[in-house]
Amino acid sequence: MATPDSPMLSDSQLATLAELGDEQTADVGDVLYRVGDQRYPFIAILEGEVAIVDGAGHEIVRHGPSRFLGELNLLSGQTVFVTAVVTQPLRYIAVDRDGMRELLFEDGPLSDLVLSTFIARREALQTVAGLGLQIVGPHASAATMRMLDFFRSNRLPFTWQDEVPVDGDAPVVRLPGGADLRAPSPGEVLRALGIGRELAPREQADLLVVGAGPAGLGAAVYGASEGLETLVVESTALGGQAGSSRRIENYLGFPAGITGTELTSRAVTQARKFGARPASPYRAVALEPGDGHHVVRLEEDHEVAARAVILATGAEYRRLPVDGLADYEGLSVFYAAGPPEAQLCGASRAGVVGGGNSAGQAAVWLARGGALVTLLHRRADLRETMSDYLVRELERYGVAVRDRSEIAALHGADGHLEAVTLKGGERMPFSFLFFFLGARPCTEWLGDAVDRDENGFILTGTDAHARQLLETSVPGIFAAGDVRSGSTKRCATAVGEGAMAVQFVHEHLSASADVRTPVI
Ligand SMILES: Cc1cc2nc3c(=O)[nH]c(=O)nc-3n(C[C@H](O)[C@H](O)[C@H](O)COP(=O)(O)OP(=O)(O)OC[C@H]3O[C@@H](n4cnc5c(N)ncnc54)[C@H](O)[C@@H]3O)c2cc1C
Repeated sequence: MATPDSPMLSDSQLATLAELGDEQTADVGDVLYRVGDQRYPFIAILEGEVAIVDGAGHEIVRHGPSRFLGELNLLSGQTVFVTAVVTQPLRYIAVDRDGMRELLFEDGPLSDLVLSTFIARREALQTVAGLGLQIVGPHASAATMRMLDFFRSNRLPFTWQDEVPVDGDAPVVRLPGGADLRAPSPGEVLRALGIGRELAPREQADLLVVGAGPAGLGAAVYGASEGLETLVVESTALGGQAGSSRRIENYLGFPAGITGTELTSRAVTQARKFGARPASPYRAVALEPGDGHHVVRLEEDHEVAARAVILATGAEYRRLPVDGLADYEGLSVFYAAGPPEAQLCGASRAGVVGGGNSAGQAAVWLARGGALVTLLHRRADLRETMSDYLVRELERYGVAVRDRSEIAALHGADGHLEAVTLKGGERMPFSFLFFFLGARPCTEWLGDAVDRDENGFILTGTDAHARQLLETSVPGIFAAGDVRSGSTKRCATAVGEGAMAVQFVHEHLSASADVRTPVI
């Protein structure tokens, strides 16, 4: 795999860590932590060397003096995916997870260094074959395909065996370290991995945020930091759509761009720091407005009663209405382009369908990974829908652009794509296709609890005859981000709306009998 740089800790950072942790030694061959462990400490190396190996003993990388071990699961508490073996006599500082989390909240530069390294390492681990979870199930099994999507959204490293399990229903999910789960729910997998918060069957909160994309996380950070007891429920993966963006170039304050994973991982850490409780995966299935408290029902018989609710459920990708699409999804047709997909497509022909910025970003990412990429879109000129800088990037990385092109049929066998036919009749050889066709709002679960526009987006403000700009047709229930009718579908807007909605929540709560003053 392409191992990310392993940055060095400065002497003063090592001194800070030494104050907090314990200095220890280990001999050659000692195992510091292994695949399947539930937790491990942060380890900063003073002298010696450690090799990181996969479950089969293949070496991934080595770390020496002033380097540190670990990746995202150290902070999230997720099961360990790799083993750390001492290769030269070791003197190191070990800081337990809780202590490390507190230190990262306090120490900005250290937090930047550790967090960005952990995120880069997770991205790299996703490209290592045979690492992480193993899933066994045929691509004809809808439950298997849903589970694969779930793993991808949560950026979990996994290996897939496309076959029917020997006994029982598909999929079988093998956890790092060995245990098998048979036809589990996504929640069961996450909880078995040690992540995902268990909610009590009935919870209460001042503010319930539904959806943990940029809007929901923005609301969580501002809600919790301003003294509201804030619970965030998320059905799939903390971070939302933004979490799947390869590089967000236009987010204020990041002139070199920032990956969606990094931006949203930082936001989740920040929300937790202020005391917000992100709970995932919990899908909201019904909203029952009430007087003083609104109740949101969740899958698996949970419910939350909250004095105010912010709906931030965003939108989902549109699928192409062509025969047999489902047979290819997850095998050769995708709706996001991350490190595993870039690796899969290297030196193959890939089609990216869509004229927006997300299609442009995916095309550039795949081309940089070595794929021969053609971007297909419906309009006469890509500049009508895509930012100029991305059009220039497409040229720079040799992406072929086909204007006025729409796919009419897919050809292949057993989920492996061989070609597509365009509406004009032309056949183009593609082994992989990526769709970026816009989105539909995730609002079906709301029924008629709040007013929506003709496309299903939630109406707010004067359109909903509400008192506040982001308030829905029901007082005390607000909407923010992509799910809101008329919103600008951008990260910064979503974050801003999430933050702004919290201000309206305060005004709503102040107007009701129970007044609470925000700490700003
Ligand atoms: C590939 C890609 C690249 C992009 N690049 C850029 C860019 O460069 N710059 C930019 O500004 N914007 C970009 N965007 C757009 C940006 O990501 C979105 O505008 C932003 O994520 C919207 O945030 P949101 O919180 O409103 O919704 P989302 O990010 O969609 O988050 C909504 C969350 O709600 C959850 N949810 C849905 N239904 C339920 C339910 N019933 N119960 C619980 N949870 C639920 C979803 O799982 C999701 O996590 C990009 C988008 C994509 C897909």
